[in-house]
Parts: sequence; C-alpha cells; structure tokens
Amino acid sequence: MTRKEFIKMCGILGVSLPLEAALAACGKADARQPNFSGKVIVIGAGAGGLSAAYLLQQQGIDVEILEASPVFGGRMKINRDFADFPIPLGAEWLETNASVFQEIVNDPTVQVNIQTIPDAPDRKFVNYSWFQFFEDYIVPPLSARIRYSTVVQSIDYAAERTVITTAGGVYVADKVVLAVPLKILQEGDILFTPALPASKRETVAEMTVWDGFKAFFEFSEKFYDAEWAFTITPESAGQKIFYDAAFGQNTDRNILGLFAVGTPARDYLSLSDAQFKATILGELDARYANRATPNYVKHIAQNWNNEPFIRGGYLSDYADWRKVRELGQPVAEKIYFAGGAFTDGEDWVSVHTAAQSAKSAVEQLLVG
Ligand SMILES: Cc1cc2nc3c(=O)[nH]c(=O)nc-3n(C[C@H](O)[C@H](O)[C@H](O)COP(=O)(O)OP(=O)(O)OC[C@H]3O[C@@H](n4cnc5c(N)ncnc54)[C@H](O)[C@@H]3O)c2cc1C
Repeated sequence: MTRKEFIKMCGILGVSLPLEAALAACGKADARQPNFSGKVIVIGAGAGGLSAAYLLQQQGIDVEILEASPVFGGRMKINRDFADFPIPLGAEWLETNASVFQEIVNDPTVQVNIQTIPDAPDRKFVNYSWFQFFEDYIVPPLSARIRYSTVVQSIDYAAERTVITTAGGVYVADKVVLAVPLKILQEGDILFTPALPASKRETVAEMTVWDGFKAFFEFSEKFYDAEWAFTITPESAGQKIFYDAAFGQNTDRNILGLFAVGTPARDYLSLSDAQFKATILGELDARYANRATPNYVKHIAQNWNNEPFIRGGYLSDYADWRKVRELGQPVAEKIYFAGGAFTDGEDWVSVHTAAQSAKSAVEQLLVG
C-alpha cells in the first residue's frame, strides 16, 4: 500500500469516527502521543482553521492561529443587535445531521445540546447559530492561541522549518494548516516559496467562487411567503431566495431573509445601501401588491465580496469533485489544507464539511 492509499484509507475509516479512533485505525493506537510533536501554525480562524487547531490542541500539539481580521468565525459571522435572535450573515442552516456537533467537539465528556428544527432540506438553529457553537465549544480552549489582526503574507517551506511572514513579524513552524478562503489563494495574497505545485496552482486558478450576498429586512406585517426561490439559468450560475428568516425562532418579529450567491448576487454588490433598499422594496412591492414599502422597518446587508479577507461567497456547488479533492491535498508534508473549499471532494462549502476537512488534515498531519 502506498502512503497515499494509506492516508486515503484513514480518511475513509475516519469520516465519522472520533479522531483518536481514526488514528488508531491507521496504527496510531496511542493517539495522545502522536509521532509528530512539533509546532503547527494554523492560518485562518474560520470553521476550518478553528476545528483544526482545536483537534491539534486536544492531541497535545503546540498550535498557534494567525487570523487576519480582529475576530474569529469568518463566514459564520452573526449580528446580535438586529433582532431578538442571532442573525446569520453567512452560514445559517445545518446541512447535515445534528450528531455532527458531537463529532466536531470530539470529546464524549462534553455534552452538546443544541436545538435545531427541520427546514427542508436542511435544519435551522433555534435562537442559536453556527458561530455560537464555535464560540461556546471550540474557541474557549484556543482563545490564548489566536493572534488577531495578523495577516499572513508569505509562507516559505523550502527549509526544514516553515517560515510564515506577516506584516507584524515572522513565525516559524514545523507544519502549517492553511484555512483561508479559496479566493485569497486565487488572488495571490499569500506568496509561497517554493511556488505551490503546478497542479495545485492550476486547480486553484480554475475553480469558480460564487459571489455572496445576504440581507435581512424587518417588516411590521408578515405579507410574504415562507420561501420565494428564483429560477436561475443555468442552474450552475447561482441561487437567489427570499425566505422567512424568523421561521422556528422564539420571536414576534417579521424578518425576511435574502440569500444570493453567484450571478444573482451581482445585482446588489455595487449598490449603495439606499439603492439596495429601494431595489429590494421594489422587487417585493411588485410581487406583494405594494405591501413591502409601507411595512418596512429596517434592514441589514452583508456583502461577502467586500470582506477584505474573504472576498466572495463560496466555491460553486457545481465544482468538479475531483478538483475539490485536489484542492484539499497537502503539499510537501508541510502545508495541509482545511476549510469549505478544501475537502475530500464528497461534499463542500458548508461549515460541517469545513470541520470535517480539518479533521482529515489533522489526521494526515499526525500520521505523516
Ligand atoms: C452567504 C453564505 C451563506 C452560507 N450559508 C451556509 C449555511 O447555511 N450552512 C453552512 O453550513 N454553510 C454555509 N455557508 C458556507 C460556510 O459559511 C463556509 O463554508 C465556512 O464557514 C467556511 O469556513 P472556512 O474556515 O473555510 O473559511 P472562512 O470562514 O472564510 O475563514 C477563513 C479565515 O481566514 C482568514 N484569512 C484570510 N486571509 C488570511 C491571511 N492572509 N492571513 C490570516 N488569515 C486570513 C479570514 O479572515 C477568515 O477568518 C455560507 C457561506 C456564505 C458566504
């Protein structure tokens, strides 16, 4: 069996196993003492980076997280002031089974009890969010290890130890988990020495990252449908949906959500806030007999393309799974990839797949 086949088998065996059991299945019976005992730098404190750092710390590894922005969470960002329940400006639905929370926590002594309700085909959090799950369960043991406002500019992995340069200084590590959005790699924010392998560079360059936009409107009356999904042609160009964002929440407020990724998001990206408000109220008035404008209370919008360290929505749902798998492959047994775009190719662009890709990256890092 080649090393690659061995790693792949670890991945298959480990999909739903606790990390320790997955490692044991690959011959690491005492996972608390992995072969690897060096220092790991994780770049990016979104779902992928936080999950990877959490698992590494659980395994007793010396880990430090470099995050470009002043906050953790990345595309799990929420707003706590707009309504009396958290407004998810990015990730909103649980796109898998609720058992995934316990899987991410990877510790049977910690009981995760989070209320979700079916909202076909996914589940919705009840007065809770993906961000809060990470805030409550994943970030506390890591908080002293996150370096905020630390923008990674280059990664030099030519020598035995890897040198990571930021605007504020230099960090040295034995291995790196890179958990930044794909767009950051596409736009060359991070310089690699040596350059990433040609196949990885080509795959990074050719993937489509959809534009991303979300907004929430409060109205004094609920005049709208539970969901108004648009037909986008071709389907692979993106999605646009108006939906009842207060569905299942303990609230009396009427909050309508707008979710737009891909080409439908482009209608809104360059509008001023006033133009955006007028555009949406116009769309809703046309469909709902002029009931939007008189019932308007307030709104909030999130343009993901404008976030300096995200710069887009997410990898197209229609990406080629073989290419996604290629994105997730480690480089030179030194740089491991985690995050919504760096999975095993079975599924991608959700929070839970970002967390699962982190688990896979940590398994590979510890086994290598
Ligand atoms: C509009 C929208 C709706 C979504 N809806 C859902 C949903 O309902 N359910 C779901 O499961 N998922 C959803 N997703 C997808 C989900 O949010 C992402 O897949 C997941 O959060 C990505 O996590 P990540 O760790 O890969 O990246 P991110 O969350 O983007 O984190 C990457 C981090 O890297 C940091 N970074 C970037 N550059 C640098 C640098 N140079 N140096 C240091 N740090 C850097 C960024 O600041 C960021 O914190 C949605 C996404 C969007 C945009």
